[in-house]
Amino acid sequence: PIPPTTSIWKDGELIPWADATLHLLSTAVQFGASVFEGIRCYDTPKGPAIFRLPEHIRRLYDSATIYRMRPEHAPETIIEACKAVVRDNELGSCYVRPMILRGFAGAGLYAPISPIESYVAAWPWGAYLGEEALEHGVDACVSSWTRPAPNTFPVAAKAAGHYNSSSLIKAQAVADGYAEGIALGPDGRVSEGSGQNLFLVRDGVLITPFLDGTSLQGVTRNAILSIAEDLGIPTREQHVPRESLYTADELFFTGTASEVTPIRSVDRIQVGAGRRGPVTERLQTTFLRIVRGEEDNGRGWLTYVDG
Ligand code: PMP
Repeated sequence: PIPPTTSIWKDGELIPWADATLHLLSTAVQFGASVFEGIRCYDTPKGPAIFRLPEHIRRLYDSATIYRMRPEHAPETIIEACKAVVRDNELGSCYVRPMILRGFAGAGLYAPISPIESYVAAWPWGAYLGEEALEHGVDACVSSWTRPAPNTFPVAAKAAGHYNSSSLIKAQAVADGYAEGIALGPDGRVSEGSGQNLFLVRDGVLITPFLDGTSLQGVTRNAILSIAEDLGIPTREQHVPRESLYTADELFFTGTASEVTPIRSVDRIQVGAGRRGPVTERLQTTFLRIVRGEEDNGRGWLTYVDG
């Protein structure tokens, strides 16, 4: 369980953590009608800073648009709310969770009259797959669950209901003794992890699957592609056949929670040397230096909470 903090932002005010409750029959609870973001805030020499906050909030509003939700607040208000929640709870390094959801308006599925409610919560959160995973990597499997086909669930939206797919992938992987599952798309090609995008390295080239409507458009994925460019590492977005997972020199996940997590085996087949590879380490080190404010790549990726 996550440790409760003091306050949660709700539609313009900070309310006590314990008061952030919803009715059982809210459309969000019954039908998963909720869109959200997961954002990390890091301790930096200039105080807490939120990583790529405007990009995350843009995706949040894109998700709301796709699901025909019109939030009453401007994106800038949610940006300020994220900063306020970190400040009010006196958090340093933490996870920030904005949510826009359909509240209570009866039991119907078609819920244009459900009130649109906006929240921002935050709490301290360490390495998602464990501190050790960042250095030594994780064992993953290819999931027997396939990601939704394009034009079924719009996976560009980060919507709560879509996470039933992710939890099937994750729970099966854990039950079978793996840290994570890698899902294929409906065409049998590699899509993404349960809550991460995926990269592989082969002959010095950094490769990641196309954003073809089966995976989330990860903010970290985008950051890693930029960092690779800055470091002069060649990058390629392409269709990734399943078998190239096994023959990669290096493999890693990216995500807000997972940051850059090496994968040391897939389906019990060792990947490369079976540990964090040199390209992964270079990208991971640079990524962590940037998010912690130790290095500035000039792209304005940090929003200082006290700024
Ligand atoms: N795919 C899924 C399904 C996710 O939940 C996440 C985490 N938000 C990602 C990929 C990675 O996205 P990001 O780097 O923006 O956190």
